[in-house]
Amino acid sequence: MLTNDQLAQWDRENFFHPSTHLAQHARGETATRVIRTAKGCHIEDRDGNKLLDAFAGLYCVNVGYGRQEIAEAIADQARELAYYHAYVGHGTEASITLSKMILDRAPAGMSKVYFGQSGSDANETNVKLVWYYNNILGRPEKKRIISRWRGYHGSGLVTGSLTGLEGFHKKFDLPLSQVIHTEAPYYHRRPETDMTEAQFTAHLVAELEALIEREGADTIAAFIGEPVLGTGGIVPPPEGYWPAVQEVLDKHDILLIADEVVTGFGRLGTMFGSDHYGIKPDLITIAKGLTSAYAPLSGSIVGDKMWKVLEQGTDENGPIGHGWTYSAHPIGAAAGVANLKLLDELELVQNAGEVGAYLNAALRDALGGHKNVSEIRGEGMLAAIEFDADAETRRPFDPDQKIGVQITTALAADGVIGRAMPQGDILGFAPPFCLSRAEADEIATKTKRAVESVLGTA
Ligand code: PLP
Repeated sequence: MLTNDQLAQWDRENFFHPSTHLAQHARGETATRVIRTAKGCHIEDRDGNKLLDAFAGLYCVNVGYGRQEIAEAIADQARELAYYHAYVGHGTEASITLSKMILDRAPAGMSKVYFGQSGSDANETNVKLVWYYNNILGRPEKKRIISRWRGYHGSGLVTGSLTGLEGFHKKFDLPLSQVIHTEAPYYHRRPETDMTEAQFTAHLVAELEALIEREGADTIAAFIGEPVLGTGGIVPPPEGYWPAVQEVLDKHDILLIADEVVTGFGRLGTMFGSDHYGIKPDLITIAKGLTSAYAPLSGSIVGDKMWKVLEQGTDENGPIGHGWTYSAHPIGAAAGVANLKLLDELELVQNAGEVGAYLNAALRDALGGHKNVSEIRGEGMLAAIEFDADAETRRPFDPDQKIGVQITTALAADGVIGRAMPQGDILGFAPPFCLSRAEADEIATKTKRAVESVLGTA
């Protein structure tokens, strides 16, 4: 067996890690953690450290680690048929079954599922389908996509453009000109302190209308948003936000893409975030929770209105010129079928709602009065704590202090993994749905300890 030192050396010499400070890592200035195994909500590294993973990997291992039912389904599928493509009408029992299971759970009005491998490629598919749709309808100018600052939709060329976080644009020549951004539904940073949530929503909608007016509705094809902002800070929408946005989009014949890569399949305590907030999307992006990340698989769920036009398009132009080698990969599909069955059998969506609410309450009890805790927010099995130099006035810390990173590091040293969200001093939690109340208490207690170790008590 390789020693840990050998692995660390090979890692620094050979492995180009995503979202990593490359120079520091290559020089050995940042830690390498080699994960060996995991079970339930806990991961274990090669040094024997056991940590409670309160971010479920990257909010994806929703059913928890070590589920033998999914491992067996993957193994059986690999033995029976590891691969066949899905082009020109080919399928497998797993991919056909999974598409039915998804549609059975999806919000009303959805028609078909296109499978990919990642959330990024699914959003890439969505943008292509939106462009195709408007070309078929004879509207070649109606192509631009509105996204929100702080939205996260992937890190490809188009999807990295949709993502509204500066770090994903800088030095990459993004965003592309087809993407325009509107204000984030981020009540904590509302422009005027005395605005109510409803007033803030009215302000956001007015901004959106003004943007559409300025650019011309005939140039704007779609709006993309996560039901709850995820990587941008785990921010539930302000009161009345989605119905108000939907109304504006309907008025201007702009399609709505609900990016449910994080919220799809139960994270909010309901099967889809769209149902949770009464959103009626034309396209839904799914990934992570579709297989609980036991195998890579994503999807674009296409609504009835778009589907009819896609069919018309192929009658007029021949087969759709869009396909990946790994679309509907049988191993991913088998993992998806086993995963969705497990979600139902173990009532994990319900648990996500109940224990998620318990976790949010425990965090508020533990840290609600702290002088630097300016907001504790969440929905379902999502929670975030926002830190400011002055909680009262919401004056932020100097970003160079890296308060969020310091707290996350202290928390990990105490055995709990949270995530320092990339923009702002925000500690995020998105545990597996099987989290117990005792584990939620452990997260809250250790978070309090970590916060106090960095910022002092009270
Ligand atoms: N959309 C959302 C809402 C996400 O959170 C993510 C990833 O975190 C993506 C898209 C991109 O998914 P992937 O990293 O699988 O490409």
